[in-house]
Amino acid sequence: MQEQSLKTIEFDRPEVQGTTCGVGHAWAKVPATPTAGERVALKARIRDLLVREKAVLVAHYYVDGDLQDLAEETGGCVADSLEMARFGRDHPAQTLVVAGVRFMGETAKILNPEKRVLMPDLDATCSLDLGCPADEFAAFCDAHPDRTVVVYANTSAAVKARADWMVTSSIGLDIARELHARGEKLIWAPDRHLGSYIQRETGADMLLWQGSCLVHDEFKGIELELLRAEHPDAKVLVHPESPAAVVALADVVGSTTQLIRAARELDAKEFIVATDLGILHKMRAAAPGKIFIDAPTAGNSASCKSCAHCPWMAMNALSNLAETLETGSNEIHVDPQIGQRARVPIDRMLDFAANRNKAVKASGDLARDGALFSNVGPA
Ligand code: SF4
Repeated sequence: MQEQSLKTIEFDRPEVQGTTCGVGHAWAKVPATPTAGERVALKARIRDLLVREKAVLVAHYYVDGDLQDLAEETGGCVADSLEMARFGRDHPAQTLVVAGVRFMGETAKILNPEKRVLMPDLDATCSLDLGCPADEFAAFCDAHPDRTVVVYANTSAAVKARADWMVTSSIGLDIARELHARGEKLIWAPDRHLGSYIQRETGADMLLWQGSCLVHDEFKGIELELLRAEHPDAKVLVHPESPAAVVALADVVGSTTQLIRAARELDAKEFIVATDLGILHKMRAAAPGKIFIDAPTAGNSASCKSCAHCPWMAMNALSNLAETLETGSNEIHVDPQIGQRARVPIDRMLDFAANRNKAVKASGDLARDGALFSNVGPA
């Protein structure tokens, strides 16, 4: 049963430790869109630099489509944060270039302390990370010593270092279900919407930190219902960082990978998508000919902080990617002691994922793979 919520955390904090930036600063730092000629030249330069630096590009589904294409073309990967972590750990390259946000670079560094990890812009952060300062979180955990601490990937290395488990949206449900089955009571941080979704699905006893993603927090249930009425045959795909009213209207609730798979595999022509618009690049490639409509945000009726695109993801561009490869700037460093401690919950998750995948393959129950189709139908 959920205990009283801790408190509301303001995501748009002033800059923290001089390494992160608020929403306005992030949008101001988004590089200008290159001309067609500049794009071709930058892509060619990046391909050469990746070879010169013996580096591999690991990109998230929310970053610019050109970066996603380059990652795939050059033997890197485009993925969700679980697969980004696994790919970076298992790839032999000694330099990982992470196109995404800071916690993704930190996770790569924690898993590969001997490798060089570069990012196009170290100021690219996440409202969930900003809303969960390590000292406040540690005090919260100390106040509830009987609980297993589960944190989402979207947190700093110091917060992970205080956790028993790290999860991503593609595996959080399975891990919470397992811990609940073992009789463990949980602290969940920082995303309140994902936490309540998992709580509803598993019945686990979870004490929720009250953070949110500024992109998903803006999706609106009422407007989504109106849009769905205009497109009665469309399937609604929702990331579980969205508010409960939006999740309640979903045909599929899942991580980015799970939503892309749903777009490809479900027998529908139209989809309404409630997650960062960056995902549409991959969805269109995975399901050519299908129609994707972005779900309505607060921007339709009020001021919009993101209009369904993460300002920090948008800071990743061809120009600063080329620059960081050229100069070796923007290297991620994690305090080795914190990194060692933070590695424990990450390894637990990766081991759990590997064992789950083996079990799914052995059972032949491929519909369970990635837990996607357990969520088909009204969520
Ligand atoms: S989309 Fe949301 S969860 Fe993802 S990095 Fe941006 S603010 Fe964080």
